[in-house]
Amino acid sequence: MQHPLSIYNTLSRKKEVFKALNPPYVGMYVCGPTVYSDVHLGNCRTFISFDIVFRYLQYLGYKVRYVRNITDAGHLEGDGDVGEDKISKKAKLAALEPMEIVQKYSTDFHEVMKTFNVLSPSIEPTATGHIIEQIEMVKTILDSGFAYEINGTVYFDVEKYNSTQDYGALSGRKLDDLLNNTRDLGGQDEKRGKLDFALWIKAKPEHLMQWPSPWGMGFPGWHLECSAMSNKYLGAQFDIHGGGMDLAPTHHTNEIAQNMASCGKQPANYWIHTNMLTVNGQKMSKSLGNSFLPHELFSGNHPLLLKGFSPMVVRFFMLQAHYRSTLDFSNEALDASEKGFKRLMSALALLEKLKTSETSEVDVNALEQKFRAAMDDDFNSPILIAELFDAARIINSIYDGKTKINTADLASLKKLIGSFVYDILGLYDDSQAADEIAPVMDFILKIRNEAKQNKDYATSDKIRIGLNEIGYQVKDGKEGSSWSKI
Ligand code: AMP
Ligand code: ZN
Repeated sequence: MQHPLSIYNTLSRKKEVFKALNPPYVGMYVCGPTVYSDVHLGNCRTFISFDIVFRYLQYLGYKVRYVRNITDAGHLEGDGDVGEDKISKKAKLAALEPMEIVQKYSTDFHEVMKTFNVLSPSIEPTATGHIIEQIEMVKTILDSGFAYEINGTVYFDVEKYNSTQDYGALSGRKLDDLLNNTRDLGGQDEKRGKLDFALWIKAKPEHLMQWPSPWGMGFPGWHLECSAMSNKYLGAQFDIHGGGMDLAPTHHTNEIAQNMASCGKQPANYWIHTNMLTVNGQKMSKSLGNSFLPHELFSGNHPLLLKGFSPMVVRFFMLQAHYRSTLDFSNEALDASEKGFKRLMSALALLEKLKTSETSEVDVNALEQKFRAAMDDDFNSPILIAELFDAARIINSIYDGKTKINTADLASLKKLIGSFVYDILGLYDDSQAADEIAPVMDFILKIRNEAKQNKDYATSDKIRIGLNEIGYQVKDGKEGSSWSKI
């Protein structure tokens, strides 16, 4: 009855039957956010995609150790080894400690993930918390002869590595092509080869985050943290490594090189890469200025939005596309998702109101097979959603008295829907709750505003903190206060 789970592996460029290294345990590492600014919806899409992988593996009975890091040092503006550290730069501009920036945006990221009903990973390690492990890894790579030090910076020797390994295996590109397409030394004249990347970077005195190392004061290169932390928490070889597909050609390619050079092993058996959320066909990205923040989408407060959409509608919209396809963001597409989501949720709500018969015309087992088949085929959530609409039609038909179901089958159907809609897709109906709570929240905020006007800050703070504790965030703006679900 069961289908094997198949996963598209970027490394082999084909779908492969998933075999855990050490069942029932599965180790999964996903590159997390760089916490120097608000996460935008594109970032959210990637983490929602991996949330589905995490949830489905658990549904299949695996005990998953899901490690998703927080990059809080070492990610330079140029994504290569040049430019300023993104967090340090922000800290300087805001006259704050880098760790204040890290704290603010980590908290913000967690709140956004919670709003989208994304499960927390098992471990969320940070780059700054693993400087020792990173230095150890640099030492090992130096010892193995695949790195060299110049003036306090340690570089990975890509051409030497490629003489025994295939450096471009993940991106499917040959070293010669890569060399031909790289113009110069990227502003680092000291490097031996154009493609060499920094494992450890010498810090200028004014650099805000730096640590002592055998090569002097410095900081780790961005790619190193993921190699060191995946190795520490999942071992030299683990099951799944993931991230957005923009990370494959450089970040993940360099990660593989680092792991191979230090441990002699390809770190992950399956490489999963999620495709991009786009706006008018262009990748949503902060630097392109076309990014939407989650709260702008929820409130509709953005010049390009005609109205707001609830977090579950946005999650549903994202799950209606397969994770390996691009997904274009538009008012029309979101509108269509909202309608579909409401239709699905209202049919599922009928499950509680169905009358049972002696006989049953519903084949719950067949439905389960179809649901499973969809998810077993490389986590195909859009096919699953199409099957769920079929199930919704059956539920409507039972409700209308046109199809019969008995008590046992109804119980199985409810369980099945519970597993696939709520546990695996992580969806629930948030519209009704929001509609009901809105006037109550507005009333509470009105009382708080009156308290503020009377300079009764104790009461206004008490309301804000109290609401926060039960899951609502209050924001004070020029036009007054607003609330949103955390
Ligand atoms: P960053 O904080 O920029 O390192 O990105 C965090 C994660 O979000 C990475 O896995 C990126 O690949 C992913 N990401 C960035 N932009 C997009 C996008 N437009 N669509 C989907 N994923 C994205
Ligand atoms: Zn990474």
